[in-house]
Amino acid sequence: MKKVRIKNSGEEIPVGKIVCVGRNYAAHAAELGNEIPAKPVLFLKPASALIFSGENIIHPDFSQNMHHEAELVLLVGRDLKNAGRAEAEKAIYGFGVGLDMTLRDIQDELKKNGHPWTIAKCFDTSAAVSELILSDNHNLDMNEELSLSVNGITKQKEKLNMMLFPPAQLIEYISSIMTLERGDLIYTGTPAGVGRVSRGDKITAQLGGLVSLECGVI
Ligand code: ZN
Repeated sequence: MKKVRIKNSGEEIPVGKIVCVGRNYAAHAAELGNEIPAKPVLFLKPASALIFSGENIIHPDFSQNMHHEAELVLLVGRDLKNAGRAEAEKAIYGFGVGLDMTLRDIQDELKKNGHPWTIAKCFDTSAAVSELILSDNHNLDMNEELSLSVNGITKQKEKLNMMLFPPAQLIEYISSIMTLERGDLIYTGTPAGVGRVSRGDKITAQLGGLVSLECGVI
């Protein structure tokens, strides 16, 4: 079972499910030719897909176009069902920065056929996450900047306050559909600037100087 680590602490928390949000930044929805959604777009990743900073992303042979997506990741600290906004806010035990690796060519094909995105989003090593910072130690004010570079060149850079649906609203919505449990992770969507990575590339993602993540592609 995969466990996330809390920064500056020996605490490790077993990961349950990974709930991901699509199209949560208007400029990213536009760059892929998608409409801005009226409600959050949700999909899942298996916890077995998770890797950590210093580990490699394994490029599947069946894709020619794997994309990086840098995202704010939330760690759920308590069980929740039909949460109100305040309860949702309190359930954010910690946060970090993550990568939602996506096989764009496969996803485009799946979308065209009306099929689920599973193959494009759930392959092994498709989810990376940094150490997590406890909400008690840093209050996210959404002015933090999310950024990603490939081989030292900045590709994504955006303030969290450009999200269409902010963290507590996402948790409120998700918990109206499925029970959230302690140890679940929520990937909150990526800003504009997604693009292709190749074997040999080094990806670095950062959240406002608070926490960072580095993964190679092999
Ligand atoms: Zn994503």
